[in-house]
Amino acid sequence: MLKTYRMERWEIDEIKERDEDINSFIVIDRNGIARRNLKKGGRLDGLTVGIKSNICVHGLLTSAGSKTLENYIAPYDATVVERIKENSGVILGMCNMDEFACGSSGETSYYGATKNPSAPENIPGGSSSGPAAAVAAGFVDVAIGSDTGGSIRNPASHCGVVGFKPTYGMVSRYGLIDLAMSLDQIGPIAKDVKKAALLMDVIAGHDPRDETSLRLDKKFYSFSKNLDKNLKGIKVGYADEFDELISDKGIKNLIHNAIDNLTSAGAEIVDVNLTNLEIALPTYYLNMYVEFFSATRKYDGRRYGHRIEKVCGEEVLRRILLGSYISQKEYSGRYYRKALQARSVIRKDLSLALDGIDVLAGPVVPKLPHKFGTKIEDPRTMYAYDIFTVIANLAGIPAGSVPAGRVDGIPTGLQIIGKALDDQKVMNVMYGFEQEI
Ligand code: GLN
Repeated sequence: MLKTYRMERWEIDEIKERDEDINSFIVIDRNGIARRNLKKGGRLDGLTVGIKSNICVHGLLTSAGSKTLENYIAPYDATVVERIKENSGVILGMCNMDEFACGSSGETSYYGATKNPSAPENIPGGSSSGPAAAVAAGFVDVAIGSDTGGSIRNPASHCGVVGFKPTYGMVSRYGLIDLAMSLDQIGPIAKDVKKAALLMDVIAGHDPRDETSLRLDKKFYSFSKNLDKNLKGIKVGYADEFDELISDKGIKNLIHNAIDNLTSAGAEIVDVNLTNLEIALPTYYLNMYVEFFSATRKYDGRRYGHRIEKVCGEEVLRRILLGSYISQKEYSGRYYRKALQARSVIRKDLSLALDGIDVLAGPVVPKLPHKFGTKIEDPRTMYAYDIFTVIANLAGIPAGSVPAGRVDGIPTGLQIIGKALDDQKVMNVMYGFEQEI
């Protein structure tokens, strides 16, 4: 007889029922496929986990929120999933998401929109809408998301939970369905920084199956043990450009209050510049279109799933078409090479801004999440959510969102950004801030 980790049927059914309204899960694993033979006593013992639907869990539907993969049952575990299981994490199921992680609102899933448990009239943010909503609703203790341009931090901010995007290469991407390989990063979403750090302890670390995975000293991977809330003497940079680009007054006030809180906890605030922040969005989108186009060529309807162009939603199709256009030989110089150059400009800006200080602190999003049912005609209105988050992906550096309070009743996060490999420091400042408010 197989020994299944005991999660009572009634418990699961209760969550399933409550989730009918929120729609944070695409699959709730009632039969315990992901919990089969689960050993007890690991670091995540007893903690329930939600996995974003673009990360393979052996035996479960890994659809990436798309009709394209509506029949794709993953034949293997992603490295992060393997590690969660080895550490007794109780996987509850596959969380909802924007189709192929393309979005900032949680509305474009083939399986329907996710609701925001913390602000029911407003979108939960995306693309990791399900993981953030499932944590906010208390359906799971922690969840795994992916972040290409903000998809962990944005929904964490809107749903009032903690989200962390590690340094590029810190967590293996093996088993993740790519949006844009050079930007994608898997990371934790949790109610508090401590749990996010604990999940990082388990999922971070070198993986020979991911060529971009970093090989680091063991000391890098004890995030929860090394958490330090002391903010005395920590140098925190704040860029003027943040103020210029936050479009909501309430958010501006909240972020300034958050900075004041950091100051009263002993941090020193330093003025810095991010001169080219304005070009961050086009830079991100051009790079991502090209990589996404190339990533989607395998969905030709022959190997698995449906032919993507035939069944995907409007936003995914837009990206495929634009990516294909920019990738054409005659245009690649004009757009793609420029986008790559712009990416190094942003990277340089960030390293200058971070030089001599510990972290940057600022907004996660420039505006509040829109209400459900709002018609968004121009895709740039949606893209605008990402202005402050894409920079960390373009530079491959760690960044997290920690709840900073509410604006008009809607949760809003403070973003902390650090230098490459300073993941611990970023989490420490998030932790210190969390204790302050
Ligand atoms: N909102 C951004 C996009 O649509 C980021 C998505 C993500 O991080 N997966 O591409």
